[in-house]
Amino acid sequence: MDLHQETIQSLHAKLARREVSSEEVTRSLLNRISELNQELNAYVTVMEEEALSQAREADQRLATGDGAGPLCGVPLAIKDNMNTRGIRTTCASKILENFVPPFDGTAIRKLREAGAVFLGKTNMDEFAMGSSTEHSLFGPCRNPHDRDRVTGGSSGGSACAVAADLCIAATGSDTGGSIRQPAAYCGVVGLKPTYGRVSRFGLVAFASSLDQIGPIAKNVTDCSLLLQALCGYDPCDSTSVDSPVPDFASFLTGDVRGLRIGIPKEYFIEGTDPEVEEAVRKGIGVLEAEGAVPVEISLPHTEYGIPVYYLIATAEASSNLARYDGVKYGFRAEGSADTLRKMYHRTRSEGFGDEVKRRIMLGTYALSSGYYDAYYRKAQQVRTLIRQDFVEAFRNCDVIVTPTVPSPACRIGEKTGDPLQMYLLDIFTTTVNLAGLPGLSLPCGTTSEGLPVGMQILGNHFDEGTVLKAAFAFEQKTLSTQA
Ligand code: GLN
Repeated sequence: MDLHQETIQSLHAKLARREVSSEEVTRSLLNRISELNQELNAYVTVMEEEALSQAREADQRLATGDGAGPLCGVPLAIKDNMNTRGIRTTCASKILENFVPPFDGTAIRKLREAGAVFLGKTNMDEFAMGSSTEHSLFGPCRNPHDRDRVTGGSSGGSACAVAADLCIAATGSDTGGSIRQPAAYCGVVGLKPTYGRVSRFGLVAFASSLDQIGPIAKNVTDCSLLLQALCGYDPCDSTSVDSPVPDFASFLTGDVRGLRIGIPKEYFIEGTDPEVEEAVRKGIGVLEAEGAVPVEISLPHTEYGIPVYYLIATAEASSNLARYDGVKYGFRAEGSADTLRKMYHRTRSEGFGDEVKRRIMLGTYALSSGYYDAYYRKAQQVRTLIRQDFVEAFRNCDVIVTPTVPSPACRIGEKTGDPLQMYLLDIFTTTVNLAGLPGLSLPCGTTSEGLPVGMQILGNHFDEGTVLKAAFAFEQKTLSTQA
């Protein structure tokens, strides 16, 4: 096996036995990045020098065995909306093109402390607004399974880097599907933790009541290892929850006998690609054959997921993005403006891309006086109903299984002219953020054109463990039948 094909688990074993050094693996990945990144466009910043120096430090730690856990010396890719001290963090936006944060976000700090190596920052939709990684200052990221197709988004660069072996694993963020959807399109595993599980301190805010950071990895075990390192209470994030973090590895038993799998009828609907539906139904069959028990459930407010999400997310975005005004940091339009207002206007007109401007306008409208009750307040009320649907459903099941996205990856450019078509891709993922639940996507087959299909597994609040348990059992079974 080439070094770039290692997983966290396999690499850790080799690093711990000193069969290979972190520096060697890091060099091998940097070489592969220099060969492939120009075309795939997964990384927007490659941190060659920093990565090698982190790798050498990790090697020293490994040599002494000094607290060297599973991530020590493991090269990762970081989504470019996570603040990295001294390394530009652009959010794929012109307005932050030259922004160099003076601090590490909490998730980054935890990974650093665990001894991980950062290869670089990954491409994304500007400010994480999108489902394809085409709305990026740096141009679209390409799907390694078919380079004319999108990777999904907004964590497309991270999913692509994992799928193309340009890193061992990666971080992403998920506000309405941005970890799970690109993981599905690129044929890798991605997990959005429960809201409050991972600190967002230092994550550039998009929609604060929805945003979560999570892992994207080559398999379920790696996903659980990276999740373990990211989780935990953080007083710097007021939404971080102080609840015990279980040992996720203990859930990876392969035993799903008696596990009740909820199958929501509202997620198996007309309009879903038949090949996607078939692959997911087969996936459920695999779990059933292992002793899991399918239960039909209903999530009746599902149809409101997209409108509710696109009101709440845009409203929060319009307020979060008000800080980019050209005064304290980030881009400022050149030339003189005779009033402060004109300076704001020019800076924001030139600094934001079209999709971000569309969201700011939608959100400002939803919050504006006279429309607030009809849109924002109503959306919040329906959000409560969506959440209650899940509370009710989890009385009768342990996990819920659905397709991650209704269709496989589209061609680059196919949907950029039609924002509504793009928004509709989020139909199975946004409800999960609205309810604050954990959700994972893992590969469950390919279409006749060879495009990966993702199966989504949802769990109750703070029950990532059971989600991982179901995913691991499925992965074990399907890997053993492929072999
Ligand atoms: N595709 C969704 C959006 O465009 C979700 C994005 C995300 O999860 N960051 O808003």
